[in-house]
Amino acid sequence: MNNKPKEIIIIGGGTAGWMTANSLLKAWGSDTSVTLIESKSIEIIGVGEGSTPYLKQYFSSLGIAESEWMPQCDATYKAGIDFQNWSSVQGYESYFHPFFSQLDLKSAELFFHNSGRRRRGESVNALPNHYFVSAHIASQNLSPVPNENLQLDVDYGYHFDSVKLGAFLKNKAIEQGLAHITDQVLEVKQDHNGSILSIITKDNFELTADFFIDCTGFTGVLVNKTLKREFYSYKDCLFNDSAVAIQTPIDKSQDISAQTISKALKNGWSWKIPLSTRTGNGYVYSSDFISSDNAEFELREQLNVLDEDIKVKHLKMRIGRLKKHWDKNCLAVGLSQGFIEPLEATALMLIQFTVENFISSFDKKDQIIDKTIKDYNLTLNTTFDGVRDYIVAHYKLNSRTDTEYWNACRNEIKTPVNLQNIISVWDKGIDLEQELAKQKESLIYLRPSWYCILSGMGRFPKNLQSTNTPSRVSEANLYCEQMARKYFSNHKVQLQKIYNNYM
Ligand SMILES: Cc1cc2nc3c(=O)[nH]c(=O)nc-3n(C[C@H](O)[C@H](O)[C@H](O)COP(=O)(O)OP(=O)(O)OC[C@H]3O[C@@H](n4cnc5c(N)ncnc54)[C@H](O)[C@@H]3O)c2cc1C
Repeated sequence: MNNKPKEIIIIGGGTAGWMTANSLLKAWGSDTSVTLIESKSIEIIGVGEGSTPYLKQYFSSLGIAESEWMPQCDATYKAGIDFQNWSSVQGYESYFHPFFSQLDLKSAELFFHNSGRRRRGESVNALPNHYFVSAHIASQNLSPVPNENLQLDVDYGYHFDSVKLGAFLKNKAIEQGLAHITDQVLEVKQDHNGSILSIITKDNFELTADFFIDCTGFTGVLVNKTLKREFYSYKDCLFNDSAVAIQTPIDKSQDISAQTISKALKNGWSWKIPLSTRTGNGYVYSSDFISSDNAEFELREQLNVLDEDIKVKHLKMRIGRLKKHWDKNCLAVGLSQGFIEPLEATALMLIQFTVENFISSFDKKDQIIDKTIKDYNLTLNTTFDGVRDYIVAHYKLNSRTDTEYWNACRNEIKTPVNLQNIISVWDKGIDLEQELAKQKESLIYLRPSWYCILSGMGRFPKNLQSTNTPSRVSEANLYCEQMARKYFSNHKVQLQKIYNNYM
């Protein structure tokens, strides 16, 4: 018998709360009671519309089919992210960060090889777009779901309406036996060791449990306000602290592209996320460099909705992570535990990782002891910092010189040591694999992603020598294009199948 909690209270009904509730009910629902309490008067963040391929596993683990959840969440497929205007290197102004598949194996090797040649000064093409099937899937408006003829795994993610995803997961959790309370937590009672005994609500209830999970967003009602857990800010390496989001309609007669577009603007970057019913747009920026009014203006201008009466949401972001996600009988999940910034859409993946690891901590051990919790926090911190390193790379590697913001991102951010080592090995043209192997324990993004960002941003010597040895880039490009056409169908047609003609 292990000391798994028997009564758990989750506070917060945003995506983090609902994802956590479903995972706990699935794993422990038969012998642990799970209650979720959410406030009616405190809004959820209501953004967060893109995922990594990890979300596919989440739904599979709950036994929920795409045909069930996708139509209810206006979801579309995602083959990767198109990064536009982050670099001013000719021919490398845009690059695609693909989700990978076994189809890429041969062409990816050629990409690594050609990147190496270019790093060492040979004028060969090393733009990732030519070497990965997903890039062609996205550019041809195909869906990354392979047809039956392909027996290989293909990674893909999703775009979705975050409010609808929350509502869907809420219903699922209630169906699975969740006790749901609408009320606001005002006070927390602790014992002399600092463990939580109970919470007091606005409607004057005192609720007890043996474990509490804080999913209250950036506020962190338990972990910040009461427990005052130490926060490790990423502000010195990630300057963005604000965002403005705007939804725009789609033209239903047009194709839907299976990609997020991340476009560098003057003081940050904008996202464009295609859903089946609308497009989600936003501008993530640093308030040290641009005011919220000017950011809204710049985004509106870009979207061509300057004068339209359209709902706009301004948000503040707390960038960094807790030093202890789990302490005593309280775990933080979601924005309350930390946030890196949405550039690679990693937040839901981190929620999943946090909860899955929490559950498996109890499977692995007969008794949860301090060391279990210490190891857990170390794993989570390493994961958060590993994601941060990859996100920081986008800013550090930018080659724009048009604004103070982009110059500062390149020159003034404090580069994390692991990232610095990767860049320095890359610049010297020496063995990147060896450096990545050295960082194995803390590396979250793997070799293909590092090659994509470093090559995709055009991080190469300026004076290149022409060469007679062929690069075979056209061959790789043609192969990827043919694979995309052969195994993948039109995105909208694929969605119509999943939606059962709902669209
Ligand atoms: C600009 C931006 C873009 C993003 N894009 C992405 C993306 O593309 N992909 C991705 O994976 N993630 C993204 N995220 C992150 C994602 O939105 C969040 O990780 C996710 O929505 C989870 O939020 P949450 O549930 O932690 O918090 P919230 O949504 O803020 O929910 C907090 C909940 O706590 C409740 N609450 C608060 N205080 C109390 C109280 N005292 N008593 C009771 N209840 C209380 C609130 O009512 C609410 O229900 C983005 C975030 C931002 C800011």
